Amino acid sequence: MSHKFVIVGAGLSGLSNAFFIKHFYPKAQITLIEQSNRVGGMIVTNNRNGFICEEGPRSIRMGKYNRPLYHILNKINLYREFVPSIQQPYSYIYWNGKLIAVPLQMNLQTLLQFVKDNGCGDVLNVIKAFPKMMLMKADTDNLGEYLDQVLGKKMTEKYAESVFYGIYGESVYNLSKGLCYSKSHMKGYDEQEIKKELSLDQDFEQIRDEKLKGANSYRFKNGVESLPKSLHAYLKEQYGEEYKVQLNSKAKRIDVNTKELIVENRDEQEEQKLNYDYLILNAPTHQLSQIMINSNLNKIGDTFRGIKCNSLVTRNICWDQKILPQEFKGFGYLINPKQEQVILGMVADSLSFPSQYPQNSTNLSIMSIYDVNDHVILNELSKHLGVKIPEPKEIITKSWSKAFTRFSPGHQEEMKKIEQELNAKNIIIGANNYTLAIPELVYLSYSKIKQLYL
Ligand SMILES: Cc1cc2nc3c(=O)[nH]c(=O)nc-3n(C[C@H](O)[C@H](O)[C@H](O)COP(=O)(O)OP(=O)(O)OC[C@H]3O[C@@H](n4cnc5c(N)ncnc54)[C@H](O)[C@@H]3O)c2cc1C
Repeated sequence: MSHKFVIVGAGLSGLSNAFFIKHFYPKAQITLIEQSNRVGGMIVTNNRNGFICEEGPRSIRMGKYNRPLYHILNKINLYREFVPSIQQPYSYIYWNGKLIAVPLQMNLQTLLQFVKDNGCGDVLNVIKAFPKMMLMKADTDNLGEYLDQVLGKKMTEKYAESVFYGIYGESVYNLSKGLCYSKSHMKGYDEQEIKKELSLDQDFEQIRDEKLKGANSYRFKNGVESLPKSLHAYLKEQYGEEYKVQLNSKAKRIDVNTKELIVENRDEQEEQKLNYDYLILNAPTHQLSQIMINSNLNKIGDTFRGIKCNSLVTRNICWDQKILPQEFKGFGYLINPKQEQVILGMVADSLSFPSQYPQNSTNLSIMSIYDVNDHVILNELSKHLGVKIPEPKEIITKSWSKAFTRFSPGHQEEMKKIEQELNAKNIIIGANNYTLAIPELVYLSYSKIKQLYL
């Protein structure tokens, strides 16, 4: 069997695919096609006058599904640059005109604050919901319907809507329980099995345990973008001609009979045909729909076209003074959609990662669905925090158009059907069709290659 792999998209999924292809098939030839002029995709770090501004993901969350990502960080030596988050006691939700504290650390003080802000009734409702969450078998993939059953409508509306709207930009009633809550796409993750295959050096484990103890997320010294950049540099150095990256090259269509990907290069007039044994597509949903339709795979193209994609605008706002009220001790805050604000949520980067900003400065990331003038955002921020906000030193705005696939009820089943059909043609769709979270993306990118190998 020959192992010629063509990968579309040089974001973290594509780069992880390349890493694990070489793990399983040392002789593989890889060509990575990227439409932009850089690797990294959504991961973009901007260092402005000592402010590490994350335009895309601002940190990587710790959790259960770390091993494949840790293995990469070990191999590319990036773990020496770990910067842990300082865990804050609260996250906040904006409800009825004020921020209310939801504990991120469980101790007497945070629980008392929660009771003070919400009354005892909400605590009792949360306690009552626990056994239901453990025991109840959901007969629906609709997250909102499920939460109504375990939490009750009022609690769902107040808390769950705030949290999920902030993460997915959608009401819980439009989200898949499997993908957004129970993580059914991670069912195959087996730490013990993966451990046998993906080793970690003692040095890595020691440094990770020392640096990340107590943190719930982390970055790197020069920001999250160090991950795709270092991974790309590692692959180039290790594999030379067997790992080729073509920037400014857009995948247009596939000839499934001849197993060729047709690519348009920004600087050249002629189309290029790339022959593959396996083709891996990490492009976003709306691009996939176009590629499928161009390739006469109309049914699959229509299914992708029917999937809603959400857009987002992010602002990194820098001040060379402290602007948050003293009592604000949060990771950030999320806005409940019922509150009808432009801001979707705020992350207080300089509280979680103070070493990445000048002393006594503030860096906040603010997310909104619509683009509006900066002053609308600053006025809302001032209202939410209950303080007068001074003129910022800098605002870096980035618009993410149709960047996020909506994980609607039934989405996973629909994707599985498409995957089956495409796998029979040696085409693999990317991890972004199931998740946004970086450790999960890396695991799925690994497991897709492993399945081919098996
Ligand atoms: C504002 C924001 C905040 C986020 N916060 C977090 C967070 O805190 N934690 C977390 O874990 N995740 C977060 N994420 C999600 C995370 O960044 C993404 O899920 C992840 O980076 C996606 O990687 P990917 O490789 O799958 O896709 P992408 O990074 O989108 O890469 C896809 C690549 O494909 C290229 N491409 C597209 N179409 C074509 C084509 N036709 N031909 C050639 N190339 C093509 C694109 O140019 C791009 O480089 C956030 C994302 C954003 C935007």
